[in-house]
Amino acid sequence: MAPDLTRRHFLELAGGAGAFVTLRPPLDVPQATTAAGWPGDGLTGWFDKPMRWVQLTLVENDPGQFDPQFWLDYFRRVRGDAACLSAGGIVAYYPTDVPLHHRSAWLGKSDPFGALVAGCRALGMHVIARVDPHAAREEVRAAHPDWIAVTRNGEPYRHWANPDLWVTCALGPYNFEFMDQVQREIVTRYKVDGIFANRWAGSGDCYCVHCQRNFKAASGLELPRVTDARDPARRQFLEWRRDRLTELWKRYDATIRAVNPDARFIPNGPPDLKTAGELATIQFSDHQARRGATPPWSNGHRAKQYRSVMGRRPIGGIFSVGLEEPYRWKDSVQSEPEIRLWVAEGTANGQRPWVTKFSGVLYDRRWLPMVERIYQWHATHERYLRNEVPLARVALLHSEQTATFHPGVAAGDRAGDHVLGMYHALLEARVPFEVVHEAFLTPDRIDQFKVLILADAAALSDAQCAAIRAYVERGGSLVATFATSLYDELGVRRADFGLADLLGVSFGGKIDGPMQNSYLSLDADPATGKRHAVLDGLDDTPRIINGVFRLQVTPRGAFPSPVTLIPTYPDLPMEDVYPRVAKTDSREIYLRDLGRSRIAYVPWDIDRTFWEVMSVDHGRLLRNAVAWAANEPLPVQVTGPGLLDVTVWRQRESMTVHLVNLTNPMMMRGPLREVIPVGPERVGIRLPAGTRAKKVQLLTAGTSPRADEAGGVLTVTVPSVDVHEVIAIDL
Ligand SMILES: [Zn+2]
Repeated sequence: MAPDLTRRHFLELAGGAGAFVTLRPPLDVPQATTAAGWPGDGLTGWFDKPMRWVQLTLVENDPGQFDPQFWLDYFRRVRGDAACLSAGGIVAYYPTDVPLHHRSAWLGKSDPFGALVAGCRALGMHVIARVDPHAAREEVRAAHPDWIAVTRNGEPYRHWANPDLWVTCALGPYNFEFMDQVQREIVTRYKVDGIFANRWAGSGDCYCVHCQRNFKAASGLELPRVTDARDPARRQFLEWRRDRLTELWKRYDATIRAVNPDARFIPNGPPDLKTAGELATIQFSDHQARRGATPPWSNGHRAKQYRSVMGRRPIGGIFSVGLEEPYRWKDSVQSEPEIRLWVAEGTANGQRPWVTKFSGVLYDRRWLPMVERIYQWHATHERYLRNEVPLARVALLHSEQTATFHPGVAAGDRAGDHVLGMYHALLEARVPFEVVHEAFLTPDRIDQFKVLILADAAALSDAQCAAIRAYVERGGSLVATFATSLYDELGVRRADFGLADLLGVSFGGKIDGPMQNSYLSLDADPATGKRHAVLDGLDDTPRIINGVFRLQVTPRGAFPSPVTLIPTYPDLPMEDVYPRVAKTDSREIYLRDLGRSRIAYVPWDIDRTFWEVMSVDHGRLLRNAVAWAANEPLPVQVTGPGLLDVTVWRQRESMTVHLVNLTNPMMMRGPLREVIPVGPERVGIRLPAGTRAKKVQLLTAGTSPRADEAGGVLTVTVPSVDVHEVIAIDL
């Protein structure tokens, strides 16, 4: 499992060397620019060209009933430059000759897929074909019972939503042979630019004869029936499944390329992000809308996660126009502010929009002009939206291992909540930041960042710890929280933190919590009488609330002591609510200043508690800790009202600052009812070294604002941001 940090990760499939050639600034040289080449110069093929995707997923009775010309006209109006169109799998929308490939019962002699492909080509669009292999009809089961997935009770798996269908096994001959043949036929007949496979990776565990036999051959074991990823058999199963899907991806890709060398297999959802980083030329994030309490920035978060493995390679952001709740109203339409905000979050974070619509026959048409307005804006400003180099100086680690193998230190603790809290705190602090992936901690990927944040990155391998140690030795700073590196890459607890030497503390062996009514004492330096910079903005109080869980740790050396523990005391009856221990010397933040590098470690769940209760004091402490660790000004400083997602990018001859306005009473529970503009926002932008601003525009307002340049900082006032404003600076 330990990743090989030195290997070239995506040589051939990724479009050749150069996919990750960066001209990113080395540590301590903020925003240095040009070197030989430009990121992405090595990208070949058509993949990087499309900027606006459209997807039409036909339903079985569409042929003969829907109007292809209506859709082609719409694609033209929205200035879509690539399309994903239904071709086959569960239903074939062309006259297939593959036995058991079910032609739509409404197909007759028609070829709606072929007609749409020809129409899109006439518009100059790229076209990929959509297949969905996850289910099949009774005649398929009758002919090949072994193609159908088997439940843990040994029964063939009937489709959960449509009992006329059977769920197929993703890891057996249905996918490896039948779907391979289907895809070969589609690429051969229509010369499409790729195949996009929806639900290609299976629908839960399968206990069919092929899975049993193949897993036993690979591992010597029976298929596991436990779900705990730390169980050795389950872990082997997960690895086998990932390897099998990777093999399937490679087989499909080889088949497709043998027919059309410029085409690719594009899975909807890779086996894991690391594999996408190794294999993919292009990827699409299938995160169509928010649901429940999903914050709107979730779309930007997903974009950043994909970029952490894809780098400069293109990432599309699939969005739907309907509600994405568990009840799956697939023909529904959301409010325009909701759709605009979701797409803006993707665009501001480097994704290219991909609208998806099911059914060629429309019932509720309100979304058509909404998406048209979004896409028209996007097309008009396209040259500023090829977001080529993020200029963020802070990065948040994304650990897939931790998500898989670390269940939390106790009931109620989940590493994912630490990440969400940290994400929200960075957003509130208006810190532009990127995400980096645990499998790619190489200097070319991480040295552009001054600060690496490890938000309860619990499960880290020795090699990953070594890569982080080397980053610090090269001048990088860290902000780490809670159980970071206390577990290995398989979720096994270490005797001490893997990064104990960097954090400057050792694990004391005990985890406290959930704690009731515990506090933190904010203390001045006894020598100077002054408070540390991490307490900026908290001058008016001697204490703030503590978190809910804490690790007992032992310092390995001398530390400042700005924050100390006030232990839990009774919260009832009210007569008893007074501290039993007024003061301890147990530090609750550990700050190491190593000169070029700074390390801040918080042994309690500041980020997780922030996500749960959103205490403004915790947000401030996190912001201060990141600012102290960075020890340099932000690349963009935004002053003004509201909650804004701030991203900053460099293009070849320009730079952009995106401001996405998240200020809304429906921010944490949608959909939005209206747009609530915020402003004015005063934006100070550090220009890349050696550049001057030649022209400044606000792309949404359509104005050229006043801009003052002094000391390499351009100051622009944005009068108002409705959903999304972009400050575009020609350099
Ligand atoms: Zn199976």
